Amino acid sequence: MRVGVIGGGPAGAVCAIELRRGALHGGDRPEVLLFDGKSFAQAGPQGCNMCAGVIPRAILDRLAAMGAEIPAALVQREITGHYFETRAGGVHIPKDPDATIYTVFRSAGPRTAEPEIAQSFDYLLLRTALQAGVVHVDEHVRELQMPEAPGAPFRLQTAREAYEVDVVVGAFGVNSPLVRRFAELGFGYQPPGTYRVAQAEMPVGADFITAVFGGEIKIFALGLPGVAFGALTPKRTHLTVTVIGRDVDRADLERFLEHPRVRRHLPPDWSLPPVYCRCAPRIPVTAAKNVVADRLLVIGEAHIARYLKGGIESAFFTGARAAETILAGDLSQQALFEHYVRPCHARYLRDNEYGRFLFRLNDAISGSQVLSRAGRWLLEREQRRPNWRDRHHTHIMWYTFTGSAPYCEIVREAFLPSSILRTLLAVTLSATGLLKDKTDG
Ligand SMILES: Cc1cc2nc3c(=O)[nH]c(=O)nc-3n(C[C@H](O)[C@H](O)[C@H](O)COP(=O)(O)OP(=O)(O)OC[C@H]3O[C@@H](n4cnc5c(N)ncnc54)[C@H](O)[C@@H]3O)c2cc1C
Repeated sequence: MRVGVIGGGPAGAVCAIELRRGALHGGDRPEVLLFDGKSFAQAGPQGCNMCAGVIPRAILDRLAAMGAEIPAALVQREITGHYFETRAGGVHIPKDPDATIYTVFRSAGPRTAEPEIAQSFDYLLLRTALQAGVVHVDEHVRELQMPEAPGAPFRLQTAREAYEVDVVVGAFGVNSPLVRRFAELGFGYQPPGTYRVAQAEMPVGADFITAVFGGEIKIFALGLPGVAFGALTPKRTHLTVTVIGRDVDRADLERFLEHPRVRRHLPPDWSLPPVYCRCAPRIPVTAAKNVVADRLLVIGEAHIARYLKGGIESAFFTGARAAETILAGDLSQQALFEHYVRPCHARYLRDNEYGRFLFRLNDAISGSQVLSRAGRWLLEREQRRPNWRDRHHTHIMWYTFTGSAPYCEIVREAFLPSSILRTLLAVTLSATGLLKDKTDG
């Protein structure tokens, strides 16, 4: 059996590796062609899959279990907590003591820095796939033809050559023109709904980051028009600036960086460099529909991703699940739905509704001075409790913004009677003027 995997991001790479690590019923390993023309060994957008690169350690453990040798240079920083900046002041939130979270680059670094292959997460994925016996076709797929008869091969066309495969795995993400092409293939694929977001890499120097950020991700819920939240994520020498909203562009990103509450986390003499590494990718906010046909599956964010957070983890999940289903052998549309689509829906579909609710709640809080002040006070106050586990609002914010717990569990915690009582007290104190805004860090 010959499988063509289109896209070598986390979903495609994991699917390709797991296909080679497993075996078909007769004991044979499938032949796996992995198509991706992006060079992950390059710096800047040409080699990058446009992401803040915040990953739990479990992702690296999974890769190591798949045979990856993790280079020391891969990890940029270890995250020690969040700093939440609201319109009523900021608060430090230390991380869950049991969680280990890292930052990485998805390419060999930002375009304004010297490329260093060992720091490219997606290059590591590709190298691990090659070690597993995957064949890399270093080109993008331009065209796909469905089989002319049941059992006949699919045809994948690149700029140079046509390839025949028995099974197609679409792992091209939501930023590829193939999203539209797949919707025209006739099996009913409807791509996910997306937001357009803005991201940039700002060189501010290792010493400044160590002194001012350490391992803290700074999250800004300032109630800016059209912006759900922004973040400054520390890398070794750069800060990754991410601004998320329904349709955010470069002007929103630059306005965000000029906001006084953001500006004070940047060096005093800092100004926007004339050239900097930036991108404006799409991010999925709903799931795709009809993602399988006979011998064809769409995986990764082109199918379903965890809402706004933890997209790499969900890409790993869909990739591994797809590989397991293919190896099981029944590749009819119905079997693929039962064994691949259903488990993905069970894990993410309903939970993402809770996620949407949590982020709407965050929008409402960050848009209101009274609620922001109440929220900041609650978080600050509970830091006095010695045990992290007893800080309910801290869990809620930590897990929401790391994506490291199911959203339904976070909502459950937010609606515990004790959480509601404390929230009501804080809002009452804030509304009656008994709480003050904070102006310093
Ligand atoms: C601004 C931003 C910040 C994010 N931050 C984080 C974060 O901190 N942590 C996290 O876990 N997730 C984050 N995500 C989400 C994460 O990036 C995605 O969920 C994840 O990369 C999806 O993996 P994927 O393999 O499905 O798609 P992708 O990573 O997009 O990979 C798709 C691959 O397909 C290839 N491709 C496209 N078209 C073709 C073609 N025609 N032929 C062959 N190959 C093709 C591309 O070159 C690419 O390599 C972020 C997303 C955005 C937009």
